[in-house]
Amino acid sequence: MHNAAFAASGIDAEYVLHELEPEAVAGAVAAARGPEWLGLGVTAPYKQVVAGLVDDVEPDARSIGAVNNVVRTRDGRLVGFNSDAPGFRAGVELALGRPLEGLDVVVVGAGGAAHAVVWACLTAGVRRLTLANRSVDRAGALLDRFDGVGSAARRTWRTDDATFDDSLATADLAVNATTVGMIDPGLPFPVDALPPSATVFDLVYVPPETPLLRAARARGLRAANGSEMLIAQAAMAFERWTGIGGMADVMRAAVAPLLADAAAVA
Ligand code: NAP
Repeated sequence: MHNAAFAASGIDAEYVLHELEPEAVAGAVAAARGPEWLGLGVTAPYKQVVAGLVDDVEPDARSIGAVNNVVRTRDGRLVGFNSDAPGFRAGVELALGRPLEGLDVVVVGAGGAAHAVVWACLTAGVRRLTLANRSVDRAGALLDRFDGVGSAARRTWRTDDATFDDSLATADLAVNATTVGMIDPGLPFPVDALPPSATVFDLVYVPPETPLLRAARARGLRAANGSEMLIAQAAMAFERWTGIGGMADVMRAAVAPLLADAAAVA
């Protein structure tokens, strides 16, 4: 995606992938202070640790507790930011066909991605936020972290609690922010418990159609995977690095064949 955007905007730069052992991360971040660098993308499991290695962390990323991109300023300082939260908001609002504001939202998961999703929901003004997770303590800690953010009614649930279905029954939107469907088989929550008006959003994009999305579509629910979130967050990062916006279409075209290959394998 990024290399297609560099080519389309005539910038002589390259996005390269480095798989790093934990002890190599600090050195790799320090090297990005050099004048030839525009910035860095950061993925799991280093989104927290990189926040402690940069010169500054923007307030949203500090609140979320994760940096998924770093921009190098003209004077060589490294500033960490989070584009997962606004990327989720852009992707999910496209799927919903309306803003998040005022909705009853159920989010399943309490890892790094769920932090960005819950932050986006609370700051967008959802009416009610139910956070469910296999380990309910993690869900509680996540909501405690965002105490005072937004005005949504909030509650936590254990996903295997028999009464979890009750919270799904009123949901306008149900979000999978777990690895279920990508790494683990099965469904992160029971689609049958949702009302016919609900939208299902799965952060997973490989495979492009998870068992969750298949079940939601079979029931006639509106459903979307995480590819538009991926594209939106990447386009936002690219704009921060280069000052050039509007690259989502170029990025979508670049990633489409890869997602089609993933669908063929699945
Ligand atoms: P993470 O920090 O490792 O969190 C994993 C979450 O999944 C935890 O809530 C964990 O529950 C839950 N989980 C794992 N295995 C489970 C199982 N067998 N049954 C029930 N729950 C299970 O991962 P992450 O970084 O948040 O990523 C989550 C997903 O979001 C991944 O699939 C990732 O690819 C996707 N993602 C997509 C985008 C995008 O742009 N579309 C961006 C970021 C992430 P416990 O707390 O109980 O362990």
